[in-house]
Amino acid sequence: MKEEILKQLLEIVAKDNIRIDEPMSKHTTFKIGGNADFFLRPTSEEELKHIMKVAKNNNIPITVIGNGSNVLVKDEGIRGFVIKPNFKYIKIVNKKNDSVDVIAGSGVLLRKLSETMKRESIEGLEFAAFIPGCVGGEVKMNAGAHGKEMKDVVKESKYMDLEGNIHIISNEEHEFEYRKSLFSRINGIIIETTFSLEYGDEDTITNNMKRHSEFRRTKQPIDMPCAGSTFKRGKDFITARIIDECGLKGKSVGGAEVSTMHAGFIVNKGNATAKDVLDLVDYVEKEVFAKTGKRIELELEILG
Ligand SMILES: Cc1cc2nc3c(=O)[nH]c(=O)nc-3n(C[C@H](O)[C@H](O)[C@H](O)COP(=O)(O)OP(=O)(O)OC[C@H]3O[C@@H](n4cnc5c(N)ncnc54)[C@H](O)[C@@H]3O)c2cc1C
Repeated sequence: MKEEILKQLLEIVAKDNIRIDEPMSKHTTFKIGGNADFFLRPTSEEELKHIMKVAKNNNIPITVIGNGSNVLVKDEGIRGFVIKPNFKYIKIVNKKNDSVDVIAGSGVLLRKLSETMKRESIEGLEFAAFIPGCVGGEVKMNAGAHGKEMKDVVKESKYMDLEGNIHIISNEEHEFEYRKSLFSRINGIIIETTFSLEYGDEDTITNNMKRHSEFRRTKQPIDMPCAGSTFKRGKDFITARIIDECGLKGKSVGGAEVSTMHAGFIVNKGNATAKDVLDLVDYVEKEVFAKTGKRIELELEILG
């Protein structure tokens, strides 16, 4: 069966962009996860469209990932196609006196995009410079930090639906909310996003980025495999604080541990399985509810 699907994919998709039985632990910042049946890295809309066609014709489920920094892939892996768009361009357009538009492919890391913006003295993306995702994943999650989120800078996005049709949507049509967007409701693969930014001063941009980097270095376990904040912010409470107050820092199940540095992060001490993480999540949710009466909600997405 896999050979037949591979044959169909190869009609359009380059061989180098297809991997079979690929360990997802190689593609997630948690460094956890079983194999994907097919791991596909399309580099053009034509390839992506063909992948959609093969999936539809053979009734194959599709999962999209970016940099894998907000996901936990189960130990059993992911059936069907995992698509990691490999659109890596950055284009600076519509240059005006003080404003400018920047188009970035969904596979561009925010780290890379922010560095490029700094060099061009374009400000507005410094807040995202150290969020370890790609454009597609950050737009879908409406990623945010330091008081700003994607919603504040996105002008429009281009995406492909599962039928292979292209759509262009405005900022409002993204339906941005706290850590969610239109793509939390519909299946679509973001191809590129245009950001509305402004010209600024390179030194100020550099200083802002340094401040954000220092904040993360001192407050977050960035040198441990993890997926950032495991839980969403509460409506009237700071989730990390109540986890800490429940005495859960350092609590571990197998190789998964509630970070001793930041109670909002679950980290992989080296040999954690997805089951360890899920069991720890379950334990933390129950303890927090038993001790505070508050329900905490996952920010982390479970795949597979
Ligand atoms: C150390 C650390 C710090 C973090 N700090 C922050 C922070 O400050 N603020 C914050 O908001 N987040 C933070 N995160 C979480 C994470 O980086 C963000 O949620 C980020 O937006 C995820 O992007 P990604 O490319 O890794 O997406 P993935 O984790 O790969 O995917 C996330 C979701 O987006 C979907 N997706 C990915 N690409 C596409 C696409 N092209 N089209 C459609 N859907 C797509 C996936 O299906 C999935 O549902 C942190 C994570 C880590 C590890």
